[in-house]
Amino acid sequence: MLKIKFIGAIEGVSGSCTWLHHTDSDTQFLVDCGMHQGTEREEWANSQAFPFQAARLKYVLLTHAHIDHCGLLPRLVREGFTGLVYATRATRELTELMLLDAARVSGMFTEHEVKQIRWSVLDDDLGFKWGRSIRLAEGIWMAYLRSSHILGACLISIGWKANDGNRSICFSGDVGCQTDENAYLPLMKSGQHPFADTDYIVVESTYGGRVRAHEHQDSQLRLARLAEVIAHTLFVKGGKVLIPTFSLHRAQELLMDVLHWMKVSLPNRRHGLGHSDNDRPVTAIFHAPLGHAVTQVYAKHLCSKSPNGKFKYLNAALCESLAMHADEIQTMLQRLVEHGRFKAGDGGYLSMTKPKQPSNFEADIVIASAGMCDNGPVVSYLERWGNDPRNTVILTGYQSAGSKGAELMQRANACPAPMDSLSPGLAEVIDMSPYYSAHADQQMLLDFLFRTDGFGCNKPATLLINHGNPQSKYELHRAVQMRAESRDGNCRQIKEVRIADARWLNLDSGEVIEQSSTEQALLNELEALRRQLEFLSDNKERQDKPRNHDIATLQTE
Ligand SMILES: [Zn+2]
Repeated sequence: MLKIKFIGAIEGVSGSCTWLHHTDSDTQFLVDCGMHQGTEREEWANSQAFPFQAARLKYVLLTHAHIDHCGLLPRLVREGFTGLVYATRATRELTELMLLDAARVSGMFTEHEVKQIRWSVLDDDLGFKWGRSIRLAEGIWMAYLRSSHILGACLISIGWKANDGNRSICFSGDVGCQTDENAYLPLMKSGQHPFADTDYIVVESTYGGRVRAHEHQDSQLRLARLAEVIAHTLFVKGGKVLIPTFSLHRAQELLMDVLHWMKVSLPNRRHGLGHSDNDRPVTAIFHAPLGHAVTQVYAKHLCSKSPNGKFKYLNAALCESLAMHADEIQTMLQRLVEHGRFKAGDGGYLSMTKPKQPSNFEADIVIASAGMCDNGPVVSYLERWGNDPRNTVILTGYQSAGSKGAELMQRANACPAPMDSLSPGLAEVIDMSPYYSAHADQQMLLDFLFRTDGFGCNKPATLLINHGNPQSKYELHRAVQMRAESRDGNCRQIKEVRIADARWLNLDSGEVIEQSSTEQALLNELEALRRQLEFLSDNKERQDKPRNHDIATLQTE
């Protein structure tokens, strides 16, 4: 029997962790082991005892490098986990960077604990192919499929032998927003879908209740809006552009969009205007210490290929829009990381500030961390530029309540305003966040669930919705039911839609395993209490420390 219990991301969107137990081979493992983020109460969960014995787990199957999916791996190691963490090469390298940063910022674990993690890297295997089966134990296997969420991200399918035939369950991880029809963000190609014959799909629902406007899913409109805001700021107002960014993925997307502006939009504008006094080279800099290391990983893996010669991740439309081959994009990223400077056509220069280098207030455009503006290099740029209406701050990501970014968002406009209508003593703020998101909206989640990559599908699947607030889960549930009623012949059939909860579920029968009052159950509870007491006394000193609010800045969307 394979049984499953959701540990995290049941009531919200963080702390993703699911515990599975294949009883025939007595193999216990996790899918993701994420940190809880958000309110103080949510983060309190990070210090609570795990409900499982870490030493008894054989594997962690990791979907991607966001801290809410990988952030408690070092704690797992501290508590005796010596098994393997399966991931792609890009996810492994990004996760190590994110965890080392979290160790430094939060103090929840040490660098040594991060380095103790034992990895099994899927695509180091010369025979690597998306969807290829890998044995976990006798009678149970798994396969990784490509997600378009961030570099290295995957969905994970687990198959096992049940009494009446083979079964499988697919974990969506975080579902990206690129589809075959519309890979509108610069970096990632479209994601794959769960196998056509899967019995269960565990699906995230972060934006299960939200439908993104068409204009926000159009790369040309996004690039045109960005060009309009930058040109208005530099050439009409005579100011500077500041773009706060998260270090992982959004930063690299913004690099490509600003590069596009310098290589394509700026020369077009100058050509259209004829000679202009503004013909001096424009300088854009990227200033994000963690983002610098993350970009190094993107330089290595964004343009990598599978043994079959196809790009593992790269959205080929990027080559077209930048008029660059993939190897030129790779070289450009490497030059930026190693030499700090890249000449972007005749328009200007793109520079990357190395960690510990000072801010450069001479630059025209600055992409700087942290994304919510409370710490990192962006703070010094905001101090210098934030009080001048000639300057513009472009927000491109989620801003949590109470952050400086949320304060800025309150006075944001969707497009540039005339100079005389701006508030004196305050930089203009433009909200471009609807154009950028690494998460699927409701429509894309439905496509993810119902489509089967062209394979016919006669086997109905049970959906388990998690990783969302109650409203998002409910709205996705309702939308799935409506879509199921109007499905056409080639789409997946849905047997049942359930909201994930914390009870054990027998995946062979589909039935909830009710709590029994047997001696064994009582012994299990006693054992859990014993471990909790042990954990609390071991960590008393750690818990007595004041909560470090900086960890909130690790949250990504
Ligand atoms: Zn994620």
